[in-house]
Amino acid sequence: MTKYTLRVDSNFSKYPVIQLSELAYLYGDGHAKCSLAKRICVMDSATLFSKSYSEARERFLDAANDCGFSIHSQVLDISGPAGEELAMDFAVGGPADAATALVIVSGTHGPEGYTGSACQLGFLTSPEFRELFANHRIVLVHAHNPYGFAWTRRTTEGNVDLNRNYVDFNQPLRGNPEYDALHDAFVPRAIDDPDAKRVLEDYREAHGPVAYMAAMLGGQRTHADGLFYGDTKPAWSQEVMVAGLRRWLKDQKTVLLIDIHTGLGPYGVPYLVHGYPENDPRFSVLNTQFGSAMRSTAVKEAFDEDLPVDPEGPIVLAMDWILPDKKTYAFVIEYGTYPPDEVLGAHQQDNWLHAYGDLQSEQGKAIKEELRRVMYPEFDDWKTMIWNEAEDALHKSAKVLSG
Ligand SMILES: [Zn+2]
Repeated sequence: MTKYTLRVDSNFSKYPVIQLSELAYLYGDGHAKCSLAKRICVMDSATLFSKSYSEARERFLDAANDCGFSIHSQVLDISGPAGEELAMDFAVGGPADAATALVIVSGTHGPEGYTGSACQLGFLTSPEFRELFANHRIVLVHAHNPYGFAWTRRTTEGNVDLNRNYVDFNQPLRGNPEYDALHDAFVPRAIDDPDAKRVLEDYREAHGPVAYMAAMLGGQRTHADGLFYGDTKPAWSQEVMVAGLRRWLKDQKTVLLIDIHTGLGPYGVPYLVHGYPENDPRFSVLNTQFGSAMRSTAVKEAFDEDLPVDPEGPIVLAMDWILPDKKTYAFVIEYGTYPPDEVLGAHQQDNWLHAYGDLQSEQGKAIKEELRRVMYPEFDDWKTMIWNEAEDALHKSAKVLSG
């Protein structure tokens, strides 16, 4: 019998530990009804997750090849930390004349790519899903932001947050004066500047945690070295993505796109978000299938710390102009990792590192390690929960497409 060794940290206190012969593992309430065989099988799903961008890419390309998918790679003119090639890879399969298509995107935010890549690999290597989606066109986009995936950075090589970049730059954009006022405090010259911390704490106290998060996360186009920067022109990744989706989804009438993320919500719990208002028929289609786990950024009165803002420029809100002649469904899945202060704190530190720090220093390496830790819990229980939830989302997505 395989022996699994698990590290345990403070977040696991809610999960009971079972010892069974040589097999020791942790499980949540949702898994309590699984048979032992199923749990052992599920444990293996942790192996879908890779340790580096290049390992994830290689496994993705091998699996896509094994499925007979065609591969179309757009190579970035920057290499990875080990000199490896960085690319956005499109794996395209299923009948070219299918009326419907499933698109799964990984790595919109670099280190979240480990999770999206694992879900894509799970999809490709699962006979059940190959069968379930046999009549649909499939487009899997690996590493939307290959630079950030390989180098552990939310943003692109140009510090662009891709989920703030999918806008029509010919139209007036809304701006974020709250961010502008706080930029110097979000990105101080000295990493632990007490004055900067006080400014942020005062703002949070005066306006509340949701408004504070909205100011920070909403996106901004005024500070190229700042947080959640959306830029004033399309990023390389946006151009490659738009061209790829238009090219590989020419003949489909209905397209469902899932953009996989991590870092929002409780540990291992999925958070699904779309942007349709309540009077859009897609709102009720998605909510019928996914229930209360699916929320809309258009329902602003329900905003809270798990959904504090409707960011300007996520890809899931852009599908109607990317593919204007089609019926599209698009949503984000966020798999929760650690509390918001840890996640946002790691992003602030990483942003400071790129603005004022030294990537090669011990401090720089520690900041990168912390960013990876909060976005990618490398524990078998978390990975197992994620794949279980991804399976569930894929089953429900098939129902949406079969409509
Ligand atoms: Zn993300």
